[in-house]
Amino acid sequence: MFLGSERVNILGITVDVYSMQETVEQIRQAVEQQVAIRVVTANPEMIYASDRDQRLKKLINSAEVVTADGIGVVWAARRLGTPIRERVTGIDLIQALFPLAATEKWRVYFLGGKQGVAEQAANKVVCDHPGIVWEAGSGYFNSTEEPYVLEKIRRFQPHILLVGLGAPRQEYWIAEHPGLAYVSIGVGGSFDALAGVVIRAPKRIQELHVEWLYRLWKEPRRWQRQAVLPRFVLKVLWQGSRQKSL
Ligand code: UDP
Repeated sequence: MFLGSERVNILGITVDVYSMQETVEQIRQAVEQQVAIRVVTANPEMIYASDRDQRLKKLINSAEVVTADGIGVVWAARRLGTPIRERVTGIDLIQALFPLAATEKWRVYFLGGKQGVAEQAANKVVCDHPGIVWEAGSGYFNSTEEPYVLEKIRRFQPHILLVGLGAPRQEYWIAEHPGLAYVSIGVGGSFDALAGVVIRAPKRIQELHVEWLYRLWKEPRRWQRQAVLPRFVLKVLWQGSRQKSL
């Protein structure tokens, strides 16, 4: 049903080589054919973590779509000999998806973020893309409240379920609740950016592929997470040299 699976193995995680447009096309096909798929946007932190966590690795590799979330992953793929067309981050992917969702009048559920953030994000999206039918809910709920969250989503019957609970929690959550939508996508902190709670880097900085530096500057708590990057690079270089010697 899909374009065919062309993936590159990066530290044991198999990442699709597709461009943004091809990824959107895969999603369109899943909705049209009413097939439930999971989409993981895999960033270096997740790939690095899954190298030591078999459960996470299995979870990501079993997703129907795994995109290269960030320039680090694109670099790794090229280094390992199977270039990826371009980076497909969560926020960019959903922004590329909204025009199609509006034309097709898809139902989109926004789950995640602090109270009111998902609603704020959805309102802004619908302003730009009238036609999208939406509902939203906060991502802070406990196990007693979870059945209500699930019931609300089931009643809405979304075509697309955007889950912004942070990685990898959102990936586990999506896999633990199959069949809520045709397409379920883990989108991290995207609602904060869409709602304007967190400001994205200016376009020029995004194009220079240094948005991650901008985020570090704005959110210094990310330093700890980014500390993984040099280790990710070293592991990729190691994988490359082992591949060559085989
Ligand atoms: N979040 C949530 N419920 C939780 C914990 C986090 O909805 O129990 C949300 C949080 O408000 C933020 C997002 O998950 O919007 C995580 O954002 P972050 O940028 O840290 O995640 P990443 O994009 O790096 O996965």
